[in-house]
Formats: sequence, structure tokens, C-alpha cells
Amino acid sequence: MEDGKMTQSSMQMSHRLPRKHAIPALAALAALIGATACQPSPDPSASENIPGWQWSDEQVLETVNAVRAGRSLQPDSWPGGARVAVLLSFDVDNETVLGLRYGDATVGSLSKGQFGARVALPRVVDLLDREGIPASFFIPAVSLVLDPSQIGVIQAAGHHEFAIHGWIHELNSSLEADVERALLQRAVDYMTEVTGTRPLGYRAPSWNFSPNTLGILREMGFLYDSSLMADDRPYEIDANGEPTGMIELPVEWILDDAPLFNPLGDRYSPPRDVLQVWKDDFDGAYAEGTMFLLTMHPHVIGHRSRIVVLDELIQYIKGHEDVWFGTHLQAARWVKEQAGM
Ligand SMILES: [Zn+2]
Repeated sequence: MEDGKMTQSSMQMSHRLPRKHAIPALAALAALIGATACQPSPDPSASENIPGWQWSDEQVLETVNAVRAGRSLQPDSWPGGARVAVLLSFDVDNETVLGLRYGDATVGSLSKGQFGARVALPRVVDLLDREGIPASFFIPAVSLVLDPSQIGVIQAAGHHEFAIHGWIHELNSSLEADVERALLQRAVDYMTEVTGTRPLGYRAPSWNFSPNTLGILREMGFLYDSSLMADDRPYEIDANGEPTGMIELPVEWILDDAPLFNPLGDRYSPPRDVLQVWKDDFDGAYAEGTMFLLTMHPHVIGHRSRIVVLDELIQYIKGHEDVWFGTHLQAARWVKEQAGM
């Protein structure tokens, strides 16, 4: 993709405002859902924020426009003339999110992380490969360091995508630019070496950007991001009102298995209830002729009572005509081509 067009000033959000202005809503959400994957941690110093009613109009606009959804990249149709794209993604967090990233690892939590690589990932991939469905695996590099057998499991069928999900699921949105960049480069180098392919997709471990994330992704030549939530169709990310060429394949907490499946949380939902939410969302995407993107985690969806839900969802979707299952990378390349980017 095009890179190097972003100026130093456009890579930064407002200089006048503390960076924390950009994230209190997500931090509050994370405190509410208390799940064990992908979410940012609550920001203990959020109370230091200057409330929005004390900002100038210029400050409000500058903050909002720093990174914002631009034009829709929804294509007229998907590959093969399909009316809806189904993109399944799996964030292979394992031990990184269950203790390592905050340095508070315990034997019990690490064992739950090991379940992800040892049992859940093979179970998930077996289902996908049996059904002939390609998917995208967003992986903190350390997950592969800890259990490299996952590489062969994912590669076996030859149709899945490896994508970046940080080095150790670090909270990228809270890091200084040089640290964030170094960890991301380390992750890209490692993933390229062990998989034989340079990943082109990124999903932020925190599902959030620091003021520098977008600029770093552009510098490093990523084709797409899948961390933001401004639409349920693909779009181009704008920075300070200017198109960046960066494709966004948006996510959503209600299309994520982790928050509602956390047995220790206060919002636990039976898997078959969650299946109905996902079916309803797919029905909407099908009616619109747009895109259905679902985020899962092997260590969450890979339990016996939950994998049946993914199986049923796949069968339900396959019962529809003109559905295209693809990787995020295939979808990003398609929408880029269709938009003439
Ligand atoms: Zn994650």
C-alpha cells in the first residue's frame, strides 16, 4: 500500500490535550465487561481527564478527526458475485492475555491459556477445514513462541491467513511510539520468519489506537486494520480529515465471543443465546448485501459446549445462496480493487 505520505504532525493527535482524552469511553467499557480477551484495561488515571465541556470547539474537532471513518468501501458485490461476505477471525491470545501482558501470570490462568493452543485451536481449525472455510488468525507472536505447533495446524489446509495481534498482546494504546513500533516490528519479523509470509493485516490487542498506531501501520506497509468500530461494512480510515488508503474491516464487541462467554463475568450468556445474536446479525448483513465479520478466540469458542455453536452458525450461513467466505486479507484486497485504490 501507499505509505510515507503521512506527515509527522498528522501522525499525532492533538498536542494540546492529554492523550487520555481519546480513550475513557473504551476504558469504561472494558471495566464493565471484564472479559478475558482483547479488551483494554481500565485507565486508573482517567479521572484526571479534563471533561469535554471545558474543551474548545477546535479541541473537540481535532480529537474526533484525528482518526475517523472516511468513505465506505462496501463493494457492489463480493468475489463470485456474492451478495454478502462472511469473515471469520480468531484472535489466538492464549497465555498472552491470561497473565503475561500485565506480568501477573499465575499457574491457573496460564493453564487456561495453554488450553487454547493444546485443545481449542486444533478443534477450531478442524471444523473450518472440514467445512472448507478460510479464516484469519490474529496472533500475538508470543503465542506461537510458546507453542509453535499451532503454525502447522493453521497452515495445513493452505487457506488461512496469519495476521498481527501485537508481540505479547501489549496494550498498544498506552505505549510510547518507539516502544509500540519496536514491538510491532518484532512481531512482524517473527511471524514472517516462522510462517514464510509477511502478514499484511493488523488487529490492535486493545481494539484501540494510540495517537501513533495509524502512522506506524502505514510506515510498516500494512494493507488493512481490523480494530475499529465506525461501521459494519468496510471503510477507509481518514487521518485529520485526509484519506489514508488504510482499509478498515470493523469489529464490534457484540460480534466477539469473549465478553458474553466469560464464566466469571456478570454478563455470562449461554452459548446458544449468543448464537441467536450472531444469526440475527448475519441475517441483517445478508438483507443489506454487506459483510458479516465475527471475532472469536480459540480459548473461548474452542470448548465443547461452544464449538457446536460455531458449527451451527456455519451450517446456518451455508444454507443461504450467494455467500462468500474469505479471509480478511482477501476481503481487503477485493474492496481495494473495487474502489480503484
Ligand atoms: Zn486479543
